[in-house]
Amino acid sequence: MTKTKKRELILTGISAAPGVASGPAFILDKQDLYISPRSIMETEIPIEIARFEEALIKTREEILSVQTKISKDMGVRHAQIFDAHLLVLEDRTIIQEVIKNIKKEKMCVEYIFSQVMKKYIKVFSEIEDEYLRDRTSDINDVSKRVLKNLMEETKLHDLNDLTEETIVIAHDFSPSDTASMYNQKILAFATDVGGRTSHTAIMAKSLGIPAVVGLKDATLRIANQDYLIVDGRKGLVIVHPSEKTKQKYNIVKSKIAASKTRFDDIKDLPAETTDGKRVSIMANLELPEEIPVILKQGSSGIGLYRTEYLYMNRSDLPSEEEQFKAYKYILKKMAPNPVVIRTLDLGGDKFASSVEVPKEMQSFLGWRAIRFCLGRPEIFKTQLRAILRASVYGNLKMMYPMVSGVCELREANAMLQEVRNSLKKEKIAFKTKMPIGVMIEVPSAAMTADLLAKEVDFFSIGTNDLIQYTLAVDRTNEQTANLYQPGHPAVLRLIKKTIDAGHEAGIEVGLCGEMSSEPVLAFFLLGMGLDEFSMSSFNILQVKELIRSVSYADAQSVAKEALTLSTADHVEDFLKMKLKKYAPHVYSGRK
Ligand code: PEP
Ligand code: MG
Repeated sequence: MTKTKKRELILTGISAAPGVASGPAFILDKQDLYISPRSIMETEIPIEIARFEEALIKTREEILSVQTKISKDMGVRHAQIFDAHLLVLEDRTIIQEVIKNIKKEKMCVEYIFSQVMKKYIKVFSEIEDEYLRDRTSDINDVSKRVLKNLMEETKLHDLNDLTEETIVIAHDFSPSDTASMYNQKILAFATDVGGRTSHTAIMAKSLGIPAVVGLKDATLRIANQDYLIVDGRKGLVIVHPSEKTKQKYNIVKSKIAASKTRFDDIKDLPAETTDGKRVSIMANLELPEEIPVILKQGSSGIGLYRTEYLYMNRSDLPSEEEQFKAYKYILKKMAPNPVVIRTLDLGGDKFASSVEVPKEMQSFLGWRAIRFCLGRPEIFKTQLRAILRASVYGNLKMMYPMVSGVCELREANAMLQEVRNSLKKEKIAFKTKMPIGVMIEVPSAAMTADLLAKEVDFFSIGTNDLIQYTLAVDRTNEQTANLYQPGHPAVLRLIKKTIDAGHEAGIEVGLCGEMSSEPVLAFFLLGMGLDEFSMSSFNILQVKELIRSVSYADAQSVAKEALTLSTADHVEDFLKMKLKKYAPHVYSGRK
């Protein structure tokens, strides 16, 4: 019988990280395993108990080896999540209950174990305490591992099981999935949920792999081993591509490869326009492990270090010493280039299980970032101490996230002053003139940028949030993603207002949202007079190529005209047309 050829299927999502990749699909399994009840005889009871003990030992070995691997690849901190898994595995109450029920109910161990675990999962998922409730996912993970070892034939899909290069498809990624993503075997990934600037998308960029998010039902429409093409530039996943599509994408891949060769030539050259205007291009950093990649991309420093990643994927808070060591390491590696450390920005879609924040306060409009830090001074001051202590080891600048006006800035600075005073008393060295900035990512901050500019040393515009707050569109929600428009005239005006206010006060203005990494929008930002572009290291050379290809005078007139247009679609079409005219190779080579 001849095999019927499967028809090409194009799934449209949201572009999260650029690039094109092709290969077989791997569906990250989130489904519950079905275990059928099987009665056993009295004489089989010891056999079932022995099978259970064996499965526990095997699972323990597995968890320890995953932990060692992640600890080696990514550092001890990321491996700590598996400590919680070991605690669940070794819980005496669970073990004794399983053994007791095997004896009492005379059912196979798989069934008894799954029933006991279901009961615990239910109990934990209903607990009021946020921290304990979050442990449900650990119990779930461990339960699946043990069951897999009991039922040899059942394949449980786990990122650590990858043996060949694959494209990972998931509903979403959990913190422990993210920790395993440094696995070299992942060619690209795609998820059902998420928006362009969700935490998952940001991680994809920092890993340097193409990604599409917000596909809604990709996990239902793609099967394991289906051949896929992921087009991260356009937000497409093509299932069973036809020969014609494969050929088209081979051409795209060779164009991208050619641009990489061009990029090698400009890596060490300054980001300077043809008429001599220089700007800085910096990298955004999530994990210290990214530093070697960043150093290879010709960046002139770190424009945004998202320190909250130090607080995620673990059950305790990072100590002052641990933070100090991480900051010192980054500063020394990047010296003499500047590193902008952003103070803790937890909340929104970035949570830490060590910090108790009621669910209703975790929204993007809730107890997030600087609001949380001002409300938890013990956590904030520990971080400020670590930052100040590290300041003597390099070119450190610090900024506060989500400031909505002058009051919050002053309150944060007052805490900083208290920390400085106590360090002075303890005779601990720190730089007294460390530049302090604010992120401009709340519309009220942009509207009062002139007032803020008088009290800070620099601004960094956070468009990921500025867009969501200005347009009232959740940045992680795939349903409203079409309304999340960087080119909206309201967004452009707030950016202009901020840049003008900063320059008026004689301070530098940078932008560290995803907007600065898209050549079409970067062309506009250049013309607006932006001083610093900070982005995922993956995009640095492309934006440098753009800046080196155009004149500042042309960029200025393009930006001026873009500001007169009335809709986001007009703005984006206009900017595309201009980029094609002034820098055709950049336009066609967009990753
Ligand atoms: C932003 O909001 O643009 C930004 C850079 O910060 P984050 O994406 O971490 O919220
Ligand atoms: Mg932000």
